[in-house]
Amino acid sequence: VELVMVDWSALRHFTPGEFGVDADLMHPVLLLGLDGLRERLGRPILIHPDPATELGHVVGSQHPRGRAVDCHAPGLPLLDFWLAAEATLAFSGIGIYPYWANPGLHVDVREGLIRARWWRDQAGLYHPVTAGVLYDLMRDHAFMA
Ligand SMILES: [Zn+2]
Repeated sequence: VELVMVDWSALRHFTPGEFGVDADLMHPVLLLGLDGLRERLGRPILIHPDPATELGHVVGSQHPRGRAVDCHAPGLPLLDFWLAAEATLAFSGIGIYPYWANPGLHVDVREGLIRARWWRDQAGLYHPVTAGVLYDLMRDHAFMA
């Protein structure tokens, strides 16, 4: 656990209640990145419950460190949500999850000069982001939550 304090009053769009019981352990850079993304989108971003108990979360997950959230933007095509997240420099890791009940993104602020990118298929397997999956996201607006 890092000794960084969250200044919730600096956020325009999010409150601690949206981040569960460990809200004050969330990394401020992650929260500011989410707030900026939310501002640019002009529409709500719903934070998913902490996935710590979910099956299939990757080893070395950023979630327990308060450095990651899973989320979706209702009514926004997943590709548009991803492109907007890509423009948010705070996010060093972004995962695309078209097969969640509410298709969305994992965003994190992992340490190091890393730009981690991946997507997870219907079988729960992880893959690099390629033209193929972007084409599927463009073509299949069923990936809109
Ligand atoms: Zn995640």
